[in-house]
Amino acid sequence: MALSSYSELLGYARERKFTVGAFNSFNMESLQAVVSAADRTGSPLIVQTYHAHMDFAGADYMRALCETASRHAKVKVALGLDHGKTYEQAVRCIEAGYSGVMIDLSSEDYAVNVAETKRVAEAAHARGVSVEAEIGKIFDADATPEEIATGYTDPDLARRFVEETRVDCLAVSIGTAHGFYTHAPKVNFDLLEEILRVVPCPIVVHGGSYTPDADVLRMVKMGVAKFNVGGEFFAAYKKTILGLLTGDFNREATEVMAAARAAIEKVALAKLKLLNAYRI
Ligand SMILES: [Zn+2]
Repeated sequence: MALSSYSELLGYARERKFTVGAFNSFNMESLQAVVSAADRTGSPLIVQTYHAHMDFAGADYMRALCETASRHAKVKVALGLDHGKTYEQAVRCIEAGYSGVMIDLSSEDYAVNVAETKRVAEAAHARGVSVEAEIGKIFDADATPEEIATGYTDPDLARRFVEETRVDCLAVSIGTAHGFYTHAPKVNFDLLEEILRVVPCPIVVHGGSYTPDADVLRMVKMGVAKFNVGGEFFAAYKKTILGLLTGDFNREATEVMAAARAAIEKVALAKLKLLNAYRI
């Protein structure tokens, strides 16, 4: 099956009341793991490459791997760039055959974020590729809840941004953060509700790793469209490999990689269970 756009998957998820998992992968094993989990649970999936992994993985390699995985899977699969930093990086992914790109200039001035996001949206939409952008600041998870709150998304600004840029989905800051939390996260559900009410496009929550299951379920129920998970997969992969490499050189390399792949698949299955909890 050819790769799907974000818009197609997010529209379908809205009808069926589930949240699309957007799972990061950076090589063949991690991609096989997340697509296999999606296939086993009948969940359409967005596979993403983190911007800083792009040079390691290669956009054309990831596209080829994802297309192959998609051919083997029964579910629809999209391939996206996560936190793209420049117009040029987004265009490289579009030209390599990605079906979605995120352009994240949320740390720039509003006017720069609008202008660059608009340019990316025009280039992407001309090729049927979906675009995600970000308003507000999503912190790393070593920030305190108070620090995280300083980056909250302003709902009215978010609405204006979507109208001006015509993006297909928007990442917002509502209390989750990237990576391993050193303080328990505090999700601001009132803010999320307001954002869902006023912003005219699907809403994306980042920082899906280690966010408590009850919070994830509540966000799913409220109608979050896309839920990003990265760090928890990377940690499962590393932990498994490092655990198997303590002096036992008789193991086959394939055995080590297969175990790392299985560890990621297990995390992905647990996340997909939450994201599909209210599916009709
Ligand atoms: Zn993110």
